Amino acid sequence: MTDTRHSALALLAWYIESGVDEAIATEPRNFYQPAPTPPAPKTTPASERRAPRPGASVPLDLESPAAAQDSAQALAAAAGSLSDLAEAMQRFEGCALKHTASNLVFGDGNPEAQVMFVGEAPGADEDRQGKPFVGVSGQLLDRMIACIGLDRGSAYITNIISWRPPGNRKPTTAEVTTCLPFIQRHIELVAPHLLVLVGGTAVTALTGRSQGITRLRGRWLDYQPADAEGKAGNSIAALPIFHPAYLLRQPALKREAWRDLLAIRERLDQMT
Ligand code: URA
Repeated sequence: MTDTRHSALALLAWYIESGVDEAIATEPRNFYQPAPTPPAPKTTPASERRAPRPGASVPLDLESPAAAQDSAQALAAAAGSLSDLAEAMQRFEGCALKHTASNLVFGDGNPEAQVMFVGEAPGADEDRQGKPFVGVSGQLLDRMIACIGLDRGSAYITNIISWRPPGNRKPTTAEVTTCLPFIQRHIELVAPHLLVLVGGTAVTALTGRSQGITRLRGRWLDYQPADAEGKAGNSIAALPIFHPAYLLRQPALKREAWRDLLAIRERLDQMT
């Protein structure tokens, strides 16, 4: 009995050391065996897809990535306010991350702010608290923005993806594509004067550029918003910066990060 208990505790400690910090299924699965072939996706012609009624739940069975994205697009377009958008995302069933996450991590800070920071996706602390950038890298982000006189009362903070990817992995391209209408509408509703793209995932998702954050950081880009009807709106100045999680691993890059922060401060000062 004691042996079994010790073995179980040792196994748990080993899992934790290896970074396995959550169970995502109740039954064990042999990942060395090929997964069963999924049935061919059912697709609905675009002309037959309808926007969900406001307030209706969305019985989407993840039938195809295109259907999931269409559903996200329809829900996002119908949201007239940030609270509508958060509520629509709670009803969205097209992103599997929702089922392993504990909370929707929508946004934090001042939605009237001139500057909006967009990161990648929530981690474990954010998932637990339902707020973006509250873990170790978030604390660094808070200190970074404090250096240029900003805080969550004068900035708005969100992510490309609002549900934590299991084990803090990077969101897949399919997950980003599916959820893109939500962050696009989020930006449209906040309507900031400046966007700060925190890390490569935000840069690629919102500008389509794939050169890598080391090449793109510190270069002002244009974010081209599309309104709910897909019409192009006025572009927003967007600055890519290193993600604070990356700076924690590469502290020597804080010098470049500091330059980027000063560039944000300078732009904000020019606006007032
Ligand atoms: N990293 C992110 O990109 N976003 C968060 O909210 C936390 C960590």
